[in-house]
Amino acid sequence: MARCEVCFRHCELKEGQIGICKARIGKGDNVISYNYGLVTSLALDPIEKKPLRRFCPGSKIISVGSFGCNLRCPFCQNYEISWSDEVAYVAKQASYIAPEELLKIAERYLDKGNIGVAYTYNEPLVGYEYVRDCAKLVHEAGLKNVLVSNGSVELKILEEIIPYIDAMNIDLKGFSEDYYTKLLKGDRKQVLDFIAEASKHCHIELTTLIIPDENDSVEQMRQLSAWIASLDKKIPLHVSRFFPCFHMMDKDPTPIKKVYELADVAREKLEYVYTGNC
Ligand code: SF4
Repeated sequence: MARCEVCFRHCELKEGQIGICKARIGKGDNVISYNYGLVTSLALDPIEKKPLRRFCPGSKIISVGSFGCNLRCPFCQNYEISWSDEVAYVAKQASYIAPEELLKIAERYLDKGNIGVAYTYNEPLVGYEYVRDCAKLVHEAGLKNVLVSNGSVELKILEEIIPYIDAMNIDLKGFSEDYYTKLLKGDRKQVLDFIAEASKHCHIELTTLIIPDENDSVEQMRQLSAWIASLDKKIPLHVSRFFPCFHMMDKDPTPIKKVYELADVAREKLEYVYTGNC
């Protein structure tokens, strides 16, 4: 039996057993990546789509995703590659792209406005070894690395990748303990620690998806934005509109005026607040 040290779940896995994230597997005394280099999505995206608004505006970035996630958000927009039953099927269809090959792809798109590689779509850090190996090569080649993450891993994983990462968008999905524990099956403290540490080392922006009647109170936004401001009031926050998806089809989309109202609340503390999906 081996214990995974990547995230708060600390799965104990027998030989060949796959972790809750569907991306790591028990092997002898270790838990290793099960999705290394297995790419399910690859696209040249505008940097604003990550979303990053204050990092290389107007540029594009090769965006790569695998499969697996350690949270259980019922509203996941990428459920086919995160935690639905379809993940096992998608994993079988994935194509292997070695880190050296990914760098070559990124370089091939330089004349199309590409600035580097973004690790995104599923939760990249449940397969952090691939992020680390690719990001090192990309960094040495003088290109940029961007990480889009739920921030739900131990700080020692962040330490392994941070020397090569130029910018991150991290989800801060809400601010109450209950919201993280009950709805997302996550660990709020691990996310806050991750954000606080990442903010010391690279450009970060944060995203909060507003779910009606779940995390949409003015009070929660006030606490969330005050906490971000306590790190740095210049950290950009994206306040984003929810649309029904996956296991959360019973709710209406977030009213646009609610998103604007909460963005205004955040602006009381933060200098850069953007609305998304409106
Ligand atoms: S990264 Fe995956 S295998 Fe490791 S503890 Fe988290 S959920 Fe379990």
